[in-house]
Amino acid sequence: MIGWNFFTMGNKTELETRGCLNIIPKKKMITGAPLDMLKENLPVDEELLLLSNDVTTSLVLVDPVNGFCTIDSGNLAPQQPDQRIEEMVGESVRLAKLFCGKKWPMFAFLDTHRPDVPEHPYPPHCIVGTEEANLVPALEWLEKEPYVTIRRKDYINGFVGSFDKDGSNVFVDWINASQIKALLVLGICTDICVLDFVSSTLLARNRGILVPLEEVIVYSKGCATFDLSVHVAKSSKELIAHPQDLFHHVGLYIARARGAKIASEVGFWYLWIESE
Ligand SMILES: [Zn+2]
Repeated sequence: MIGWNFFTMGNKTELETRGCLNIIPKKKMITGAPLDMLKENLPVDEELLLLSNDVTTSLVLVDPVNGFCTIDSGNLAPQQPDQRIEEMVGESVRLAKLFCGKKWPMFAFLDTHRPDVPEHPYPPHCIVGTEEANLVPALEWLEKEPYVTIRRKDYINGFVGSFDKDGSNVFVDWINASQIKALLVLGICTDICVLDFVSSTLLARNRGILVPLEEVIVYSKGCATFDLSVHVAKSSKELIAHPQDLFHHVGLYIARARGAKIASEVGFWYLWIESE
């Protein structure tokens, strides 16, 4: 079998004690009193995750599309360079290449909407046939990869968005057919599409629908959310503040509370050993 080896998963102290690998210091996301207070009171336990060939695992990418990630690509795209989103895309590319190199299964959701079906409460975005609904340039090559399943979804929640009219679910069928035991989830937005997908997937797993799935892991650096500052939100009654790092943290916290594991670093076991 192939996939992540969960026996190698542990906290920093545990792994350092074992002398297994170099620990990469975790980058501090932001500073500021509200976020510091939130992190202190609602800490997210993050773990190191190292790949091995022992567990059948898949990478799931949630909405790495231009409409959410590429500057000036629509109503929900960043208006200026965004470090968090750039890091999310970079980690998605890095892990997608590693997974494809090993011919491990992958699943990618692409937010895609019909122009006549709005998605309340969001403005029109990712309309079918536009560049907004397509993979970011750095991931376009995934469309030609035989081990990648791409699902265009017209719903925030990728699990629900995988249902077809006949009641079948592409994602459920893929888990069952590929005998996936663990999912590693990256994408945007941490507290919206990623969180909804993770929560529904965990519920379906608990209900016995996703056999043989056992673990759902969210990679914190592989996720990002959008930024709408309190200052900007006050300029219009239509806007609701959405500080980026605060909501990223909240998304991870709720995912953790629902039963997901949160990975702070992700790598392949053999690469860590070679780097020693
Ligand atoms: Zn959408």
